[in-house]
Amino acid sequence: MNTLIKDNLVRNYVAGEWQAGDNQKSIAIEDPATGKVITHCALASDKSLAQALKGARESFESGVLKDMKPVERAKLMARVAIEIRKLVDEGGELLCRESGKTLDDAKAEFSEAADYFDYYGGIADKIEGKSIPLGPDYVDYTILEPYGISAQIVPWNFPVSLAARSLAPALAAGNSVIIKSPELDPLGVAALGLALERANVPKGIVSILNGIGSDLGAKLVASKDIDQIVFTGSVATGRAILKSAANEVVPALMELGGKSAGIVYKDADIEEVLESVKWGIFFNAGQVCSAMSRLLVCRERYDEVLERCVKLAESLTIDHGLKNPDLTAIISENQLEDIESKITQAKNEGVDVATGGSRIERTGHFMAPTILSNVNPNSRIAQEEIFGPVLCLIPFTSNEEAIEIANSTEFGLVAGVFTKDLSLAHKTASALKAGQVFVNEWYAGGMATPFGGIGKSGFGREKGVEALYNYVRTKNIAIKL
Ligand code: NAD
Repeated sequence: MNTLIKDNLVRNYVAGEWQAGDNQKSIAIEDPATGKVITHCALASDKSLAQALKGARESFESGVLKDMKPVERAKLMARVAIEIRKLVDEGGELLCRESGKTLDDAKAEFSEAADYFDYYGGIADKIEGKSIPLGPDYVDYTILEPYGISAQIVPWNFPVSLAARSLAPALAAGNSVIIKSPELDPLGVAALGLALERANVPKGIVSILNGIGSDLGAKLVASKDIDQIVFTGSVATGRAILKSAANEVVPALMELGGKSAGIVYKDADIEEVLESVKWGIFFNAGQVCSAMSRLLVCRERYDEVLERCVKLAESLTIDHGLKNPDLTAIISENQLEDIESKITQAKNEGVDVATGGSRIERTGHFMAPTILSNVNPNSRIAQEEIFGPVLCLIPFTSNEEAIEIANSTEFGLVAGVFTKDLSLAHKTASALKAGQVFVNEWYAGGMATPFGGIGKSGFGREKGVEALYNYVRTKNIAIKL
């Protein structure tokens, strides 16, 4: 990582060059599990942004990627995957330290990032148009062209894997990309620059800039020289970005927050439910857009599920991510305070805290695994995203009521159903307002399955073959014979 971190400073990857930025400004990167500064990160200056934009435009117009033989582009993607895999150990440790997540999960992010390059590399030479019959006097066909410069804003919860989730299909389609890394944990994303450099991705095609969202991020998305925005993050930021997109009439993809519900029907396998609760709300300390933040349980099984959830929460190991515990730190003091204040407000409104409910008194930013019981489905705590290890348990009486409660928030990212009755599962899945429904296993699916929201969870889909088509636009060519 010597290229990446020099003089205790992580630099920007600007049009193929590693730069500290010309304004000498930097931010301290903290280990959330110790509260100690691990290194500093150079902020990209306006000049770096201008250079990134120039490099992206020139490389795009030169055709170095978009006009590359598709099969060669596929091979380039495969080389990037190989280089990312070489970073799994070192990059994983950096990501673990800066984000607080477990070492295993941090390494898995690098592996997943590599997998995205293999997956979309595999489609790079299969981006096909169609021919449209217009009768004997015409030949009509479509071609799918890259947009140009894709500006991509990445959040802090899965920075490496989410950066690759958008970067890989954008490159497979021949776009140039400028990434704005998350200011809380930019190191892992910066490390992706090493892989791109080592794989000989042409200069200018990708820049990775470090900066504060409201400053550099806002400037990037407001630029007149971008052709597409891909945003993953909160609703509030998404709204601000959409205003910039509207000004310049730039297409935008929005992957926003959620308040997703699992429904436990009478015949559910409780072991499956518990396994899903463990991953659904405690994985990455609940800082997951598609977390299971509400669990709706039929009254017949409610007491049993509550008791088992409390037992599970109280049995979790809690430690520094390097030790691979069940529950890790919250990314920052601000985030922890935000979670705590939401719980305090819910307590003031009379919510029943079955376990947890406050921070853990130890070094670092740790939130106790929390189960809230008999939560009023219309209360703020049941409606707002918490982004922490906090599960709202809500009883229901009829299946119709369960679906109504599940659909009652302004979000619609994912949802889950637990039952052995396939017909009930199928009918519930089609009635749920969500971009993705899990049956009997939270997070079922993967890289190949389209992911995205409805309502305030955003629009457009990432992952799968479908996502590739976010990064191309159709041109129709009609020829009069
Ligand atoms: P955030 O909106 O605060 O920040 C996301 C990114 O946007 C960061 O890089 C930030 O620097 C940047 N940013 C902030 N203000 C900006 C502005 N005005 N213009 C341009 N960029 C700006 O979100 P976060 O706290 O980093 O992430 C958590 C949120 O992301 C949660 O709401 C979560 O649900 C959501 N999320 C969604 C998905 C998904 O795929 N749907 C995945 C992960 C996270």
